[in-house]
Amino acid sequence: MLNIALFGPPGAGKGTQAKKIVEKYNLAHLSTGDMIRKEIAEGTELGKIAEEIIARGELLSDEFVVRLIENSMAQHRGVNGFLFDGFPRTVAQAEILDRMLEKEGTPLKGLICIHVPFEELKRRMLERAKIEGRADDNEEAIAKRFREYNDKTVHVANHYKKKGVHIDVEGNCPVEEVFNAITKAIEEMK
Ligand code: AMP
Repeated sequence: MLNIALFGPPGAGKGTQAKKIVEKYNLAHLSTGDMIRKEIAEGTELGKIAEEIIARGELLSDEFVVRLIENSMAQHRGVNGFLFDGFPRTVAQAEILDRMLEKEGTPLKGLICIHVPFEELKRRMLERAKIEGRADDNEEAIAKRFREYNDKTVHVANHYKKKGVHIDVEGNCPVEEVFNAITKAIEEMK
């Protein structure tokens, strides 16, 4: 199994790269952000809980996202591997994921960290706001998402550095160049 996580701040290009990676390696794409937006669009109980939190740019609880991930993994039995996108976002989530994957004997092969300077991230997110109209792509929510990232999420990179499966990729360049760097890293970890 090829289990990989895509990691980086909001606007780093995780979603764009994720689509290309799952196509090339035939992986199941598990994006917690997409799962949550689907729950909201369908007006489920989980969606109702998530709506305000996500619009404020705050993180949902670990229990909430772990439940989504567990359900989604169970629905994708027999795949080549999982590409986790936007998960794990806290060290607690990382520890839960590690336990889940170790139980299956298929630990995370790599955490691919996409690096982009802050000013470029902000520019990209405001640009996306005009096109996609996401509820959390406004100045206030964006600022909160960066704070959440710096307070809670950055530590996930260290967690996997200690395990020796952390890979840095330069993300401030054209999409194809980032993708080439990612595929090179994946070929090395396979
Ligand atoms: P994303 O599409 O990955 O940028 O996620 C959008 C929003 O969904 C985030 O700002 C959080 O509010 C929520 N979210 C997504 N993934 C997680 C996660 N792993 N843990 C907590 N909240 C999450």
